[in-house]
This record gives sequence, C-alpha cells and structure tokens, in this order.
Amino acid sequence: MPNEFRVVEDASEMEESEYMVCIKATVKTPFADNVFDLCCKCGEKVQMRPGGPTIPKPICLECAMPDMLEAEKKNELEVMASKEAMEALARLRHGH
Ligand SMILES: [Zn+2]
Repeated sequence: MPNEFRVVEDASEMEESEYMVCIKATVKTPFADNVFDLCCKCGEKVQMRPGGPTIPKPICLECAMPDMLEAEKKNELEVMASKEAMEALARLRHGH
C-alpha cells in the first residue's frame, strides 16, 4: 500500500485511525478552546482541537514520529488530517 495523506471533511472519518497525533500541551497555540488529553505512550499532556475523533488514541508528535517514519519506509503510512487541523496549522505557520 502506498503512503497516503488525506484531508478529510468530517472527523468521523478519522475514527478508524489507530492514533491521533497531537502537539504537547506546553506548545503555545492561538486557540483558547483546545481540549487536553494524555499521550498514550509517554503520558505527557497533549492538546487538540475540540470536535475531533474520540476512538483513536492520542499520541504526542515526539512519540509518533519514529513510528511514522518507519511506516513511511515500508510504504504503509496513512495520515489523515481534518480540514480544521490543516487551517490551524497554516495559521500557526504564518504566526497569527
Ligand atoms: Zn508521547
């Protein structure tokens, strides 16, 4: 299976994912309404936008990265991002 990156309209499409990659709670974001959970691997507090999928286990970016790189090498990487997450990322990148 080739590596795949998909932007999905609806968070329900992401419910079948195994993990939800989140940034740590200590990272500053412009969002005051982020919700918090714990990384399933290291137990660090992570943050995410409200209204996301509930079934995938939250995992911090630092814990997810080695597994994602490994999966990419094997052509098994499948990443989904919500439209809202992509917009949030774009805003973070542009610094406002
Ligand atoms: Zn972690």
